[in-house]
Amino acid sequence: MLKGTNASPGIALGKVLKIEHSEFEISKLNIENAEMEEKKLQDAVEESRKELIKVQDKAMKDFGEDKAKIFGTYLLVLEDPGFIDSAFEKIREDKVNAEYAISEVRDMFVDMFQAMDDDYMKERVADVKDVSSRIIRHILGIKHIDLSCLEEEVILVAHDLTPSDTAIMDKTKVLGFATNIGGKTSHTAIMAKSLEIPAVVGLKDITDRVKDGDYIAFNGSTGEVFINPDDKTIEAFKQLKAKYTKQKEELQGLIGKETKTVDGRIVELVSNMGSVKDISGILKNDAEGVGLYRTEFLYMEGEEAPSEEAQFEAYKTVLEALNNKPVVIRTLDIGGDKKLPYLKIEEEMNPFLGYRAIRLCLDKKDLFKTQLRALLRASVYGNLKIMFPMISSLQELLSAKAILEEVKVELKQEKLSYSENIEVGMMIEVPSAAIISDILAKYVDFFSIGTNDLIQYTCAVDRMNEKITHLYNQFNPAVLRLIKLVIDNAHKAQKWVGMCGESAGDERMIPILLGMGLDEFSMSPISILPARKLINSLKYEDAKKIADKVLGLETDEDINNYIKSLINK
Ligand code: PEP
Ligand code: MG
Repeated sequence: MLKGTNASPGIALGKVLKIEHSEFEISKLNIENAEMEEKKLQDAVEESRKELIKVQDKAMKDFGEDKAKIFGTYLLVLEDPGFIDSAFEKIREDKVNAEYAISEVRDMFVDMFQAMDDDYMKERVADVKDVSSRIIRHILGIKHIDLSCLEEEVILVAHDLTPSDTAIMDKTKVLGFATNIGGKTSHTAIMAKSLEIPAVVGLKDITDRVKDGDYIAFNGSTGEVFINPDDKTIEAFKQLKAKYTKQKEELQGLIGKETKTVDGRIVELVSNMGSVKDISGILKNDAEGVGLYRTEFLYMEGEEAPSEEAQFEAYKTVLEALNNKPVVIRTLDIGGDKKLPYLKIEEEMNPFLGYRAIRLCLDKKDLFKTQLRALLRASVYGNLKIMFPMISSLQELLSAKAILEEVKVELKQEKLSYSENIEVGMMIEVPSAAIISDILAKYVDFFSIGTNDLIQYTCAVDRMNEKITHLYNQFNPAVLRLIKLVIDNAHKAQKWVGMCGESAGDERMIPILLGMGLDEFSMSPISILPARKLINSLKYEDAKKIADKVLGLETDEDINNYIKSLINK
C-alpha cells in the first residue's frame, strides 16, 4: 500500500496505463545500409499518418471541426514532399540514421519558418515539431498515448499529468489518476476534481512500482493506493465504491434547496470551472453560479491562442447555460505550472513568482485586449463579472481596469454592444494585496480570495512540491489572519467577498470562513452538495465563535486539532 495526497474524492479500481513524457536524445550515427534506414523512415511516416487520421476522426467526433483542423494541418506537413523527401535524401547522401535525418530537416524547416516575416508561417513551426516528434517516436519505438483517444477504461499513472493532458483527456475512459508529484492544489488535482475523476497525487515513485496492465485500487479521499491487491481488498474497495455512490445519491435531496444556516444566514455556493465541458457537472450539482472560470485552459487546448470569436463563443455558452446566475470569469492566468508553449516564454528560476497572470497580460496588451473584447461582447448573454488574477498592487489593478475601459470605448466606436453593469473584481492571492485590501476595496466591486496561491506566497511554500506539503497549510495562523483582514476590509467598503481557492470547499475550513463572514464559496462542482449539507446544519452564531476561537490559536496544529474535535463531536 502506498500513501499519497488525496486530490480528488472517489474510489477507483482498474488497470494501469502509464503515461511517460519522454524526451528523446537523438545521436548522429554513420550507417552502412541506407536502404534499411529509408525503410524505417517510410514505416514511421506510414504509422504517423495512420495515427493522425485516427486522432483527427476522434477530435472531430468529440470536439468538432475546430480541434480536428489541427490534425489536418499535421497531415499536410506529413504529406509535404519537400519535408519528407529531404529526410530521405539526407539518409542516402549523408549516410546517417533515420531519426537524425528527420531531426536535421526539422531544424532546417523551423529556422526557415521562424525567419519569415509572416505570422501564418511562423505558426507552422509547432506543426513541424509535432509531426517530426511523432515520426521520431515511431522510428525509435517509443510508446505514445493519446489521452483523447483511449481504447479501454484505465487508471492513468504518471510522474505528473500536465494541465494540457487533462484538458484533452477522454473522461469516459479514465477511471482515476495516480501521480508521483503534485499537491492538493496543483492544477492536475484541480482538473481531476472538476472532471469528477478520483485522484491521488504526490506518491513519489508510483511510476517505478507499477507497469502497464497492473491492477490498482485507490481511495481519492484518503490517498491510499493498493497495487495488485488481493481479492479481499478488491471486495472491500468495491463496497467502499458502492457506499460512496450511495452517499452521492443521498445528497441529491439538497438540489434546489437554499444554502442557509439554521439561524438564517444565506451564502452563495458557486462553482469553479476550467472549460465549457464542466457545465453539465455544474448544473447537475446545482451550483448557484460560477465563482471562478479559469480561462487559461481555453488557451491550452490549441496550438495557438484562441481567437476573439472562439473565446466569445465559449463565454457566451457559459453565460447562457447559467441562465442569468452570476458567472465570474477570470482573465488569463498563465504561468507557474500552466504553460503556453506558443507564447515562447523563457524558462524562469521561479515561475510562480515570475512573468505570470496579470503581469503577462499587462505586457502583452494585444492578447489581453482580445480576451476583454470577447468577454465584453459575451456579457449581454448573462450575468458576467470580470476578475483579474495575481494583482499585487493598486497600480496593476488600475492599469488592468484602464485597458478594460479602453476596450469598451473601442467596442462603442464599432457599435458592438456589451452590458453596462458588469462587476469588476480581483483575486486576493498575493499577501501584498491582502495587506492593502482596504485600499484595493475602493476600486473593485468584489474580491475573491485565492488560497491556493495565498498560502504558497504567505508561507513561502511551493504548492507543487510534495516534499514540503506539511508546510503548505491553510490553518497557518498567518493565512487565516490575512483572510479575516480581507473579509473585514471588503465589508467596510460595502463590497462582497468570496473565495475560490480549494479551501472554500474544505469541510474543515467552511465553518471558519462562514464565521468570518465570507459571502461566497466557490469550489469544484463535486464539493457543492456536501458543502450545502454542512452549511445548512450550522448556526452562523456558532460559526462566528469558531472563527474567533481559531483566530486566537497560535499554531496550525492547535487549529487542526480544535477543528477535528468539533467534527468528531
Ligand atoms: C488560487 O490561487 O487560489 C486560485 C483559485 O487560482 P489558481 O488555483 O488557478 O492559481
Ligand atoms: Mg491562483
